[in-house]
Amino acid sequence: MKLKTKISLLSAAVALCCGSVGAQTGAAGEVAAPASMPWMNAQLGAEERARLAVAAMTLDEKLKLVYGYLGSDMESKKTTRPAPSYKQSAGFIYGVPRLGIPNLWETDAGVGVASQGGPDARPGTALPSGLNTAATWDLQTAYAGGAMIGAEARSYGFNVLLAGGVNLMREPRNGRNFEYAGEDPLLAGKIVGAQIKGIQSNRIVSTLKHYALNDQETNRTTLNVKIDDRSARMSDLLALQIANEEGNPGAVMCSYNRVNGVYACENSYLLNEVLKKDWGFKGWVMSDWGATHSTIPAANAGLDQQSGMPFDLADYFGPPLKEAVLNGWVPQARLDDMVRRILHAMFAHGVVDHPVAPAPQSIDFGAHAAVSRKDAQEGMVLLKNSTGALPLNRSAKKIAVIGGYADRGVLAGGGSSLVYPAGGNAAPELMPKTWPGPVMVYPSSPLKAIKARLPSATVAYADGSDRAAAAKLARESDVVLVFATQWTGEGFDMPNLSLTDKQDELIASVAEANANTVVVLETGGPVTMPWLPKVSAVLEAWYPGSDGGEAIAGVLFGEVNPSGRLPATFPASESQLPRPALDGFPEVADRRFDVNYNEGAAVGYKWFDLKGLTPLFPFGHGLSYTEFAFSDLAASVKGGVVRASFTVKNTGKVAGKQVAQVYISPLTARWEAPKRLAGFQKVAVQPGAGVQASVTVDPRLLAMYDSASKTWKVAKGDYKLTLAASAADSKAVSTVVHLDAAVYDVNGKPTR
Ligand code: BGC
Repeated sequence: MKLKTKISLLSAAVALCCGSVGAQTGAAGEVAAPASMPWMNAQLGAEERARLAVAAMTLDEKLKLVYGYLGSDMESKKTTRPAPSYKQSAGFIYGVPRLGIPNLWETDAGVGVASQGGPDARPGTALPSGLNTAATWDLQTAYAGGAMIGAEARSYGFNVLLAGGVNLMREPRNGRNFEYAGEDPLLAGKIVGAQIKGIQSNRIVSTLKHYALNDQETNRTTLNVKIDDRSARMSDLLALQIANEEGNPGAVMCSYNRVNGVYACENSYLLNEVLKKDWGFKGWVMSDWGATHSTIPAANAGLDQQSGMPFDLADYFGPPLKEAVLNGWVPQARLDDMVRRILHAMFAHGVVDHPVAPAPQSIDFGAHAAVSRKDAQEGMVLLKNSTGALPLNRSAKKIAVIGGYADRGVLAGGGSSLVYPAGGNAAPELMPKTWPGPVMVYPSSPLKAIKARLPSATVAYADGSDRAAAAKLARESDVVLVFATQWTGEGFDMPNLSLTDKQDELIASVAEANANTVVVLETGGPVTMPWLPKVSAVLEAWYPGSDGGEAIAGVLFGEVNPSGRLPATFPASESQLPRPALDGFPEVADRRFDVNYNEGAAVGYKWFDLKGLTPLFPFGHGLSYTEFAFSDLAASVKGGVVRASFTVKNTGKVAGKQVAQVYISPLTARWEAPKRLAGFQKVAVQPGAGVQASVTVDPRLLAMYDSASKTWKVAKGDYKLTLAASAADSKAVSTVVHLDAAVYDVNGKPTR
């Protein structure tokens, strides 16, 4: 009932916005252009259309477009959302109906169409966590997930999606790692770029976020990241640069933190220089919610739109911006540029020509669940399977399922990206219930899915709160499945990498009682596993999304052969990290301090290689129910471009997918670390068969960035090219290529 009221209000709002211009909507949904509004002519390029529209706008109309509201009531500030916004949505910006420029309706969309907290959340399909999607190493899966989210968002009437999170995993305790794509700039950039492309295939805009170096949540609004330009360009910025190239997002969201002393949202170097000048970004920069700190510095530094008011301390891009423009403190040309950028993205991505109109009844939740399940199953990582405990034997008679709310569902990460499921929270009693909660358990029960596959067996459940009872159940069972969860979320980091709530003790007790113990992890990122030698198998299921219970059961029973590979190193202990203790003062909100990224670009496995550390599980690791072998590795260099071709053979008995990973190490030149991931290819191979594949290496991954000349420089010499199944694969094969010295521009293109 409530939903219906909302929809009719929304339709009225759309009619108000887009009907008043006198434009006609054609059969294909395209808006025809009246002669008085040449920018509505879809035959013209986005640049020209934006220019024409800006020329027709008044100062006040321009100012409207650069000022964003929170799409929800905010009790603490006693504000209510703008009338045409959608309940419990992230943001809203008024368009210019007179000129046919629609409103912007913004939703968070990292893993699905999210809702802000409150009683009226819209039901959505949740993909598994971003880290799971990165673990697929599969760009088609990433694209399909983005396309699904975009379709659902359009059906709810949103045209700007706050998605595309690609902050590098420098800090495995970061509470938001589950939203991102791991520790490697190539993998993360490609995966997130593909998601953005998928979202925008629905003729709406996606952001790329959070720009930049927002790699921990503790004191995220006050900390200052210190990093040298070269290291930044070869790590966090490279991930963003690749995602920008692949995904072509309409907008970029600048982050909360300061970078080398200056807030990211008023950092001219990051915004004007790197993003807009060097990378040629043509869309607009919006601030994160509460990340704008000024009017004149921010506008002149390249921020194009203040977001989510009243999140910021003041309405910097409201009346103060008008005053600044009228006095020339912010040049009129700069305001025009801000507006032109917003309009450019709206024209380029179809937001103007294909207006959104809410039609939630058209959402095919069944089909969307299948997209989510496929993503989950491509990304689950079989970490250990030493005794062949998996796939589960369907003739087992007595199965114990223990812990992790497995009787009720699967865990999700907390914060602004949270998607609310149609069936409601399966564990509503869990704390916290408010921001960054609620702790959400999607009603897709692994226990139910397991029982359905073993109709004649006894499948017993213990919630794990009584360790002795769980051990007793384990002792009396043929096989034990222990589910362990780690709830992470926005606004906080994990104090360490241990599972909470004595789950390590629970797993150890159960494994002592029955050696045939399989651990299923639902974690936001890496955890330590003191019980590892005692258990027979471990499946990392991340946050597996709306259909997670089914997805997990399908992999446990071998209906789907696991093919996920770690997108991040699992450390053996916190002492192996560049910062064994997390920087920050979680108890002191306004404390200002520096976080020194002294490890530079040596993030993740690069750091482990550099320091000669052995992790618990290396980057790229993941087992399968079959075996693979690499052969025929051949590398060629033509005009500086390295190409590697090879064969992947399935030497086992069942079909499976292998992720061929190509690493490059300089034999004479010096890099930030001994090797880099230079390419990858996921291939499906039938038992006994071999598949040929190849990768071409981005020259930036063969080079060191030179800040003075803004170029990527390849040093002459020999380089070892390794084809491997992980960053620490003892069966890897390798060859050596010789490279001549070469110079590429800031975007990795050959210089003339
Ligand atoms: C988050 C963003 C999000 C925004 C709007 C912020 O707290 O950092 O990722 O898009 O809120 O909800």
